[in-house]
Amino acid sequence: MDVEISSCKKCGNCCEKGGPALHIPDLKSIKNGNIPISSLITIRKGELVHNPLVDRIKATTVELVKLVGTGRTWDCCYYKPGTGCTIYEHRPHACRVLKCWDTGEILALVEKDTLDRFAILEKDDPLIPIIREHERICPCDGLEFIQANRTTLSANKKAEIEKIIRLDLRFRSRVINDFGLKLNEEMFYFGRPIFQLLSPFGVHIYESGDDIHVKW
Ligand code: SF4
Ligand code: SF4
Repeated sequence: MDVEISSCKKCGNCCEKGGPALHIPDLKSIKNGNIPISSLITIRKGELVHNPLVDRIKATTVELVKLVGTGRTWDCCYYKPGTGCTIYEHRPHACRVLKCWDTGEILALVEKDTLDRFAILEKDDPLIPIIREHERICPCDGLEFIQANRTTLSANKKAEIEKIIRLDLRFRSRVINDFGLKLNEEMFYFGRPIFQLLSPFGVHIYESGDDIHVKW
């Protein structure tokens, strides 16, 4: 039997579904170090995410910056089973607003007043032009099309996507070397590699010799 609730029981179910997207009021917590960049992951515009307004996976129309998950899951990195939120005093705006029993307020925040990388980084951060260049040569668009048409894509389209996969990996490798980025920093500055975004559709890469090959 479902029990109706009208206040937060701190059960952690919402935290286990994934860290929230960050919004303008969260900028202060990032700037003062309570939420460091190493705890953030960028979801680039065009990535496929669950949109609670329509309750389905669709391309995000804005860039999102979220709290990362723990290890291989999306559980919020600040959630500790048995303890709860380990940054409760500094938890993001979306966590404060979320009432699982009354979702109007949280739904109103979907893709609204969200923070992106450019709002978070200092204006003179040397990685800003590099992020813009990455967006230009490795855009994150067309994922819905690829998902819907994976088995019927033309050879030309596949070749175009494979080129972007390779460019993305080479670009990251160069920037990681130049700036000494750790994996969690890479996930904030550049989001997940294109090949990882294609993996849920059954598109995989493998290395052979010195080259990357794509298995459709
Ligand atoms: S908002 Fe709901 S799901 Fe989240 S901790 Fe509170 S009671 Fe649990
Ligand atoms: S920041 Fe805290 S309240 Fe928000 S999802 Fe993570 S663990 Fe839950």
